[in-house]
Amino acid sequence: MKVNQVELVISAVKPEQYPSEGLPEFALAGRSNVGKSSFINKMINRKSMARTSSKPGKTQTLNFYKIEESLYFVDVPGYGYARVSKKEREAWGQMIETYFTTREDLLTVLLIVDLRHPPTKDDVMMYDFLKHYELPCLVVATKADKIPRGKWDKHKKIVKETLNLDPSDEIVVFSSETGLGKDEVWNILMKASKK
Ligand code: GDP
Repeated sequence: MKVNQVELVISAVKPEQYPSEGLPEFALAGRSNVGKSSFINKMINRKSMARTSSKPGKTQTLNFYKIEESLYFVDVPGYGYARVSKKEREAWGQMIETYFTTREDLLTVLLIVDLRHPPTKDDVMMYDFLKHYELPCLVVATKADKIPRGKWDKHKKIVKETLNLDPSDEIVVFSSETGLGKDEVWNILMKASKK
């Protein structure tokens, strides 16, 4: 998909604030600093539309980006940041649990992981959480440009095994630097929107 039009419609903290047009929605989840904002920006051809919303101290919100008037990207605050308080972590958990478990427009959760390293405990917990609620998931293994091409398959296999990836879930090797995987991800999202 060639994206020209993107609008941050709302930064929501509660369901009453979610958009109500019934457009297909794709959520983006990942640990802080994994490259989630860069992924979103690459997908929508923007340099700095999605800012890092995951830093502690900032309000934790679900950011709804409307794309081409036809679908939403929902940026979920990053997890696994060591220096957040227990209270902040609980608020984050409540907000995303409510969103993931009640949102009917949500089609697929894109879980962003780092291709270079095995998924962390937090990544595995997030994936298990998504599977517990039977949410379809697309794993995006990013920063591929940081390792040689000859190692991509081996690293992809480690990501799959560590997450214990469900056979119905796809995984795409990605780079926000080079645009590798961008068309493949868009194809998967377009197919999901038409189901
Ligand atoms: P977020 O906290 O998950 O939103 O992470 P960011 O998108 O802010 O990225 C964290 C850091 O990783 C930044 O310095 C990015 O420039 C860098 N980064 C993100 N994606 C890639 C990638 O695909 N390749 C390379 N080389 N660097 C990346």
